[in-house]
Amino acid sequence: MTNRELFLRHVGQTSEAPLALNITRAEGSLMWDAEGKEYIDLIAGISVCNMGHRHPAVLNAIRKQIDQYLHIMVYGELVENPQVAYAKALTDRLPVSLNSVFYTASGSEATEGAMKLAKRYTGRTQIVSFRDSYHGSTQGALSIMGSEYWQQAFRPLLPDILQLRYNSFEDLALITDQTACVVAETVQAEAGVNPPANGWLTALRKRCSETGALLVLDEIQCGFGRCGTLWAFEQYDVVPDILLLGKALGAGMPLGAFVSDKKIMDTLTHNPVLGHINTFGGHPVSCAAGLAGFEALLRESVVPAVHEKASLFRSLLSHPLIREVHSAGLMMAVHFDSFDTNKKIIDKLIERGVFTDWFLFAPHALRIAPPLQIPDDMIRRSCETILSVLNEL
Ligand code: PMP
Repeated sequence: MTNRELFLRHVGQTSEAPLALNITRAEGSLMWDAEGKEYIDLIAGISVCNMGHRHPAVLNAIRKQIDQYLHIMVYGELVENPQVAYAKALTDRLPVSLNSVFYTASGSEATEGAMKLAKRYTGRTQIVSFRDSYHGSTQGALSIMGSEYWQQAFRPLLPDILQLRYNSFEDLALITDQTACVVAETVQAEAGVNPPANGWLTALRKRCSETGALLVLDEIQCGFGRCGTLWAFEQYDVVPDILLLGKALGAGMPLGAFVSDKKIMDTLTHNPVLGHINTFGGHPVSCAAGLAGFEALLRESVVPAVHEKASLFRSLLSHPLIREVHSAGLMMAVHFDSFDTNKKIIDKLIERGVFTDWFLFAPHALRIAPPLQIPDDMIRRSCETILSVLNEL
């Protein structure tokens, strides 16, 4: 049996038609399959590999950590230096009120932890989220996902969830003193890259402050420089009460976190004690890797170049078949008329060595979210390939 057949038979599947490419190596913005065919990676593991694949500083940090220890104890009991060093580095680069990092092993778990923290801190039960939002696939995170299609087969989900329209000023009035928290992506990703309207996030922040609801911003996909500032919320003049991190947080290793003020976070320590616990959160190797990736992101001045690279993509992506290009820095969505058109384009691009995909709530849109340091010549090459594919349709 081929590896592909074994994959389809023995590895749990999430779709009836997985891409099933057999990638055997990746470096920087490139990947190679088992036959040695090269691909430009335009999606970076959906915003995981912001610093590219196998960044040397990340590899070194992993090697150093594995010489010390792998896993020693469940999260929260022992002083583990990689966790401490990374939490210090992150909170040094965050507003003062975001000073306590609770580590998880994934983005979904960060969402789960934040929802529990908000309920525990406020003593309230209602959670507000937005249509076309994605915060993870576990049952709590699924309960606030903004799409009936993905929720219906798994009901009943959590009670007391209210779904509002992202960017609706009018709907903000529905946030009340019953609301524990409002969870929003700073820039909606799976909606096909949907940034907040002018003034909407500040209005949301104001409404949360008025009602005592905590504002939870999900930067699992849009954080770590992806949108052209270290944190996307910096562009909108708001500070959340809880920040969700994941994906690029581990620089290619599994890691998630929710970050808040210590006075809020400490409510998880009592009544009940161990209010939120997990085994693998803040895995030492993930934290060492993540910290090295984070330091490289800052040291190599990656973030200031993001807007220029995004502009280069935008200037090259002009074609009658392209309806719109949405972008928030290097989180970009090229919108076509239908999923069928988009899927044809994606398949042809993969044939020609350009790796992309579509969005959960915008299947008609092509995802472009490459490593943030993708060289300009690779941007040109991939856009030429996209245009030549479009010319053949
Ligand atoms: N929030 C957002 C915005 C995401 O994009 C994702 C992952 N696609 C998650 C949460 C969930 O993260 P994970 O898949 O690591 O559980």
